[in-house]
Amino acid sequence: MPSVMSHVAVAVAAGVAFAPRDVPTHFWSLSVACSIIPDADVIGFSFGIPYAHFFGHRGFFHSPFFGLMMSIFLVGVFFRDVEIFSRRWLFYLIFFFFVSASHGILDAFTSGGLGIALLSPFDKTRYFFPWAPIVVSPIGIEPFFTKWGLSVIKSELVWIWLPCSLLVIVVSRVIRVLAVGR
Ligand SMILES: [Zn+2]
Repeated sequence: MPSVMSHVAVAVAAGVAFAPRDVPTHFWSLSVACSIIPDADVIGFSFGIPYAHFFGHRGFFHSPFFGLMMSIFLVGVFFRDVEIFSRRWLFYLIFFFFVSASHGILDAFTSGGLGIALLSPFDKTRYFFPWAPIVVSPIGIEPFFTKWGLSVIKSELVWIWLPCSLLVIVVSRVIRVLAVGR
């Protein structure tokens, strides 16, 4: 996994870039939750669930399908007051799906560990993209404070934080131009 903070950065950048101004506060906490919940599957290691198992780390819970399930659940529970199939309702659904799915997709750009079950539950194959520039993050805290941790941070700054910042800058510029042009 890229480190937790980088998954959160994607959620926050996407929110800043695309969310309407008047979203409620819990929209932000749910977005952050969507971006990191897939890694809760590491708990499986303590229960003897092997890495390559269907429910193992980077398995089903890292799939876009699970992201869709989670998104439907969150919108159904936390945005009950929003009219179903309204523009706002669709935005929440698509946004939470995108942020959840971004987790497994980012992980598929990492350089180690097992691949990601991106097509689970339909296909349990673990996938990596052919181009994997993000140095895989260690599982656990201690190895992070080594050379390995440093190269993880460097690669995440270049391949995650920089594109996220550019996204926010470009989208806010475009919005400003459109607002002035109106
Ligand atoms: Zn992960």
